Amino acid sequence: MKQTKMLRSLYALVTLLLVGCATSLIGQTSPAPSPSTQTAPEPQVSTRDTAAQPAAAASFDQVIDRAIEREHFFMAQMKQLHPLVETYLQNLKQDKELDAPVPSSDVYFLGRLDMSEGTDDRTFSSPTTAGLGKRMFRKVSDQFTVNFLPLGFAQMVVLDEDFQRKYYDFAFVRREFLGEVRCIVIDVAPKKDAGRGRFVGRVWIEDQDYNIVRFNGTYYPHPRAGYYLHFDSWRQNLRPGVWLPSLIYSEESDLKYRLGQTLNYKAQTRLWGYNLKDLRRNSEFTEITVDPLQAVQDQSQKAQDASPIEAQRAWERQAETNVLDRLQQIGLLAPEGEIDKVLLTVVNNVMVTNNLDIQPEIRCRVLMTTPLESFTIGHTIVVSRGMIDVLPDEASLAMILTHELAHIVLGHHLNTKLAFNDRMFFPDERTFERMDFARDRGEEEAADKKAMELLNNSPYKDKLSNAGLFLKAVQARAPELKNLIRAHLGDSLLNGNATRMSSLMTASPQFDPKKADQVAALPLGGRVKVDPWNNQLELVKTKPVAITNPADKMPFEVTPFFPFLTRLGTASAPEKAAPVPEKTAATPTGQ
Ligand SMILES: [Zn+2]
Repeated sequence: MKQTKMLRSLYALVTLLLVGCATSLIGQTSPAPSPSTQTAPEPQVSTRDTAAQPAAAASFDQVIDRAIEREHFFMAQMKQLHPLVETYLQNLKQDKELDAPVPSSDVYFLGRLDMSEGTDDRTFSSPTTAGLGKRMFRKVSDQFTVNFLPLGFAQMVVLDEDFQRKYYDFAFVRREFLGEVRCIVIDVAPKKDAGRGRFVGRVWIEDQDYNIVRFNGTYYPHPRAGYYLHFDSWRQNLRPGVWLPSLIYSEESDLKYRLGQTLNYKAQTRLWGYNLKDLRRNSEFTEITVDPLQAVQDQSQKAQDASPIEAQRAWERQAETNVLDRLQQIGLLAPEGEIDKVLLTVVNNVMVTNNLDIQPEIRCRVLMTTPLESFTIGHTIVVSRGMIDVLPDEASLAMILTHELAHIVLGHHLNTKLAFNDRMFFPDERTFERMDFARDRGEEEAADKKAMELLNNSPYKDKLSNAGLFLKAVQARAPELKNLIRAHLGDSLLNGNATRMSSLMTASPQFDPKKADQVAALPLGGRVKVDPWNNQLELVKTKPVAITNPADKMPFEVTPFFPFLTRLGTASAPEKAAPVPEKTAATPTGQ
């Protein structure tokens, strides 16, 4: 079939389609083969013994040969790997008062990458995008419809599926450090008649194994009725000798397409969950050994049956554990780590001053995704990575966590049908249909009221004006950022016209995007650093950047990536990794 071939072929893959072309695809694209319930195929990454490396390349030609060889090795590796891939895109419009572009609408995709037959992804960001091929197209602009193809962004992990010397001209630019990794910078341009969709732009090749660690440009020439977008694609050293895609920034500010329309957007694509094998083994172990009545440890020592109330609690805890395990297996929930402890400290601050003693004990976990949401699963409070990124201060974090704590204090239960293990057997893409932790309006209002009580009796009680300001910013940006301010699993900060914890807003200042010193919400990506191999998270310690221009505040906005690259096994300080949250192009380190 012509269209199937089109989707598989790098050259013809159209990242952005005009509606006429999209319509023909909608008619003809067959749905992706339905995947099994298997969630995380075992990654088979062969690594390189760095001690047995051949000598350094002696000439520019040798550098090219080695890089091409490594790129073929990379392509072979990627076919075995199935990371999650998330793209969050903001369309932009010019704000005359700020004299800067601001978001006008947004788009969100989440799926699992499968390159075993070309660049494909199984989309599961919502019931409306999962499954059928036609649903993979999302309407972006009402005026003149432009469609983004989720796999168009996923495709930006690949420089050229068949990278060959004969197709390209190469020109040495300079040597340059990316983080601590010394690179050879080369400009790459396709030769005449090299075929469609070849890479054109700049590549950074690390000078030990000659892996491409970054490439910045686009594909060329583009097909009729379609365009390739510009991107900046980063890889990280996740296994010895192996560099895998982790971050892609894409932007167009004046892409002209039919009838004088201009495309203006910026987008972040993140990949993670390359190695979910170990996580899965742990959870299998848990499933075998945890029996409902032994789930609470102190009971197992008593050598007697649980009392009815103990059994009920244990049953609920089992439902909770099942759900957490499943979300972690899929790669949506980060494994337990440092940030959980930070969140728990804030929760404890509220609990201690309110004399709360809650059993089983409260836990905190982080959802790996960008949309701003929080929810409880039994006694576990879950907050999304994106939410942690944009919250301006600890009191705002306390507001989010205390609302969830209030659900627990009020005894709002998790549906215990999830205590049966078979309820967890469903394909990854259906996660958002099968798992739903949203509360009804009544429970939400009760939790808000209780949370205010708890906060007013906490160390945060005099610092809540910024939390109210954050909520005002959410409310102000909600019409444009529907996909960011929207929960997939839990509750959104907005419920119809009601904003969560709205009573905090009355005592807070006016949200004013033009005031340089008012920080209501931060840009995305500035706080949480992800290890794409094992999903471990850590807090980024960046120096606050003095903001003099209101346009630099960029609340809730997407910014370019500039990770501090390190080599595995070398003494490095991961906290040095610093995405640059500034509008201006990041300046490369070193030279
Ligand atoms: Zn709630």
